[in-house]
Amino acid sequence: MNLEKAMRKLGVVAACLLMIAWVMKAQAAAAEKAVVLRCGTVLGGPDEQPRKNVTVTIEGEKITEIGGAVPAGAQVIDLSDETCLAGLIDAHTHVLLQGDVTAADYDYQLLKESPQYRTILATVNARRALDYGFTTIRDLETEGAGYSDVDVKRAINNGVIPGPRMQVATRAMDVTGAYPLLGYAPNVPVPHGVQVVDGAEEGRKAVREQIMYGADWIKVYADRSYFVRPDGVLDDIPTFTLDELRAIVDEAHRERHKVAAHAMALQGVHDALEAGVDTIEHGYYIADNDLKAMAAHGVYYVPTIFVGIYVAQGRAAAGAPVWVKMTAIHEDTFRRAMKAGVKIAFGTDAGGFPWTENPAQEFPYMVKWGMTPAEAIRAATVTASELLGMQDTIGTIEAGKLADIVAVPGDPLKDISLMEKVDFVMKGGVVEVRNFGYSRASQAPDKAP
Ligand SMILES: [Zn+2]
Repeated sequence: MNLEKAMRKLGVVAACLLMIAWVMKAQAAAAEKAVVLRCGTVLGGPDEQPRKNVTVTIEGEKITEIGGAVPAGAQVIDLSDETCLAGLIDAHTHVLLQGDVTAADYDYQLLKESPQYRTILATVNARRALDYGFTTIRDLETEGAGYSDVDVKRAINNGVIPGPRMQVATRAMDVTGAYPLLGYAPNVPVPHGVQVVDGAEEGRKAVREQIMYGADWIKVYADRSYFVRPDGVLDDIPTFTLDELRAIVDEAHRERHKVAAHAMALQGVHDALEAGVDTIEHGYYIADNDLKAMAAHGVYYVPTIFVGIYVAQGRAAAGAPVWVKMTAIHEDTFRRAMKAGVKIAFGTDAGGFPWTENPAQEFPYMVKWGMTPAEAIRAATVTASELLGMQDTIGTIEAGKLADIVAVPGDPLKDISLMEKVDFVMKGGVVEVRNFGYSRASQAPDKAP
């Protein structure tokens, strides 16, 4: 190579390096450019007291200051007619499910929709969750769609599709003969909505397998076949033996994972608590001594009120009138749980009702059943963030936390139904939704042929 050629090559390299440096500098400048929200009210502060006319400064994915001056060159978003809240957290969802009022609805999805098709629909549900204001969800099993929740979470985290932060449970577990699909002839092999597990050793193995493929949580179904006893107590048939439940919980905890138990009634809740689970899902009936144990051991109660009311009439019409009676029992349990000082986290079972229904319909029911609006909002922010072990990064609007912020038009402490009207959503400093006056009716539901 002669000198001239070498010099020319060096020049090209230098130019390239300069270009790279310039691009990196531009990116850094863009990342540093602050965004300021001018909130009419901020409700999500650490003390949860409303603060009027407050600025929230965001740099990158984090909140850097509350109530400060607007930095030079910052992008200002006017939310002065709005109440800003920490991004909402739904601690019980199913993005892989499109509504499940009757057995036929459920069987259809497992028999006639491929896991691939169901995953495509799940990506739309993830978008919907974000639209409704849920910036984080705990998705509690895929109902027969394998490990698709891990893929949805991955696509969101990689920025491929919009959606909330997710913790996922993958397949969940139940025993032989306890979980749909059921009622088919013995010679007809059908899929199941869970991983079927019998015996303590199978339970341990299933925990290891699910964690290997990406489960953040382990979910067990602790009971089935609910009935109201003459004394008004909602009883059930427990699924696992205590031995099996203990093995599953022990294995999960040994691997530093938490366990959620679907437990609707007396025996299921009791056994789940005996085994040491971390959260009780649904809990339509919980005995007083079990509520006491929950409060003492910090076990969370995720009551999922709205879904029960949504499915009750349909299930009664399909031959299970117990679901109508169960609503009254559930309300009484909820009120007793509040009195007992149990930690109650917001969760809806979205997917158990179609995702075209706003899961925030849960809020007015929590208030109707005895919470103040502030307590219901706390359940969906601070308490749910603790349930997820994410209280250091989300759950409040606070300097140093991730900028997950939503806004509603008006004062949700006066009118809790405003929680169904989230019109601004920021997740990790990125504005995901800015739809003042936007109508969600335009989102077409998936239709089974
Ligand atoms: Zn569920």
